[in-house]
Amino acid sequence: MTDRALDLLRRVFGHPDFRGPQRAIVEHVAAGGDALVLMPTGGGKSLCYQLPALLRDGCGVVVSPLIALMQDQVEALRQLGVRAAFLNSTLDAQTAFDTERAVLASELDLLYVAPERLLTARFLSLLDRARVALFAIDEAHCVSQWGHDFRPEYRQLTVLHERWPDVPRIALTATADGPTREEIAERLGLTEARRFVSSFDRPNIRYRVVPKHNGVRQLLDFLDEHRGESGIVYAFSRRRVEEVAAALVEAGLDAVPYHAGMDAATRAANQRRFLQDDGVVVVATIAFGMGIDKPDVRFVAHIDLPKSVEGYYQETGRAGRDGGPAEAWLCFGLGDMVGLRQLIVQGEAPEERKRVELQKLDALLGYCETTACRRQALLHFFGEPHPGGCGNCDNCLEPPQTWDATEAARKALSCVYRTGQRFGVGHLIDVLRGERTGKVQQFGHEALSTFGIGTDLDLRQWRGVFRQLVALGLLDVDHERYGALRLTAAAAPVLRGERPLRLRAELRRPRTRRDRAGH
Ligand code: ADP
Ligand code: ZN
Repeated sequence: MTDRALDLLRRVFGHPDFRGPQRAIVEHVAAGGDALVLMPTGGGKSLCYQLPALLRDGCGVVVSPLIALMQDQVEALRQLGVRAAFLNSTLDAQTAFDTERAVLASELDLLYVAPERLLTARFLSLLDRARVALFAIDEAHCVSQWGHDFRPEYRQLTVLHERWPDVPRIALTATADGPTREEIAERLGLTEARRFVSSFDRPNIRYRVVPKHNGVRQLLDFLDEHRGESGIVYAFSRRRVEEVAAALVEAGLDAVPYHAGMDAATRAANQRRFLQDDGVVVVATIAFGMGIDKPDVRFVAHIDLPKSVEGYYQETGRAGRDGGPAEAWLCFGLGDMVGLRQLIVQGEAPEERKRVELQKLDALLGYCETTACRRQALLHFFGEPHPGGCGNCDNCLEPPQTWDATEAARKALSCVYRTGQRFGVGHLIDVLRGERTGKVQQFGHEALSTFGIGTDLDLRQWRGVFRQLVALGLLDVDHERYGALRLTAAAAPVLRGERPLRLRAELRRPRTRRDRAGH
């Protein structure tokens, strides 16, 4: 059987050998076993169900939530001579009918189908009359309610096992922390399935996080290091995408925007340019990327804070699929965090979900502020041990300086307290630095004991102090008042001077080509 698998791998797919756990997965599923496959983006998941479908009798049925991806995959398979088709809402009635007939006539090796289509009575009864080689459930994390891609229809996929207990099932995902893994297994009835967990490490990706001062300016500096290379810049909202893309074009870069609010034709054209031309930078919301298989993406930049570590890892995973050096750059500031928290808290979601989302945001914040190896922190999140010291993240390459911030933290916390716990970081810093702004005078804050006690630190340093105090949980954001900071119980020992505090030093912005060129 192995020989047949290897033979097909070479003859049909043109790959000399299996990669990582592919061989074991293919053999297991081809022999009729169920499998849960966790493999990072670019790891080669598709082969894990495509090959067993060819090895087994009948048609492999692939559930996929992404219509665009389905079409691409089917197109690619057909070029390899594999008899593949898809069924989704984009098909006209005649084509759909022909496809169904082909399934019944055993003329197909692989059929991709959208979950809502699969679950119709019509389709299920069609499968009753057909010969099914296996069921593959792609993007299996869509079954998780707490994930960012929740698809309610995925919950009903247990029908496959109930109705066809003898047909092997293989669920695949690139994004699942420990609890999500369990949820996938549970929800899809795959607790007994054999698990294949690949290392999620992407050693060729260099991770870097910088505190935000002027995001667009910092992004331009970063892009200077990647002139002529293809990359993706993720921004928080559609408006922001437009704004950042315009700034990049203005700066002479070959940049195009991409978000769900654009008309379909422009969006498709921009995506095509990114895929086909060299050195195009796509500025996008997270709507961009699922199913984009461009091997030579040299960087993924986040100019705004993403929503979770999982999302972040998936997005950065689009860099360096060809194994060549690539960079993941993230720029974040307190304002990002305040904005995201506000969005979550004021959203429509049920309380339980909001709590989970806030926790996810906190986990991401922890990643941003860590002084330890970033790769270790990321892999730890996916339950994978790593010794640290990867030598390919900012913290390993340039160990961060820390300083004794006990006094500064006391001043900052005390200023929050004296001003009544109802002001944002900008005003707090004005008070500390003794700026007589209109707002300071309006509230009589120049009379406070904390007025002007912080002239020893500059604006950037104070921002760093406040950001880290929030990340450490000594301050939290008041959701009733936009951006206002409040003390938490954990702040008391620091305020009383009982707990010394070391914080990460804010690095001065490194000089870049842009500076040297006199811009
Ligand atoms: P995933 O779905 O895990 O993101 P894909 O299945 O799209 O990954 O595969 C990623 C890339 O790796 C594709 O270009 C694919 O052709 C290639 N690939 C997969 N398996 C092998 C292999 N055994 N040898 C060489 N290339 C492979
Ligand atoms: Zn490291």
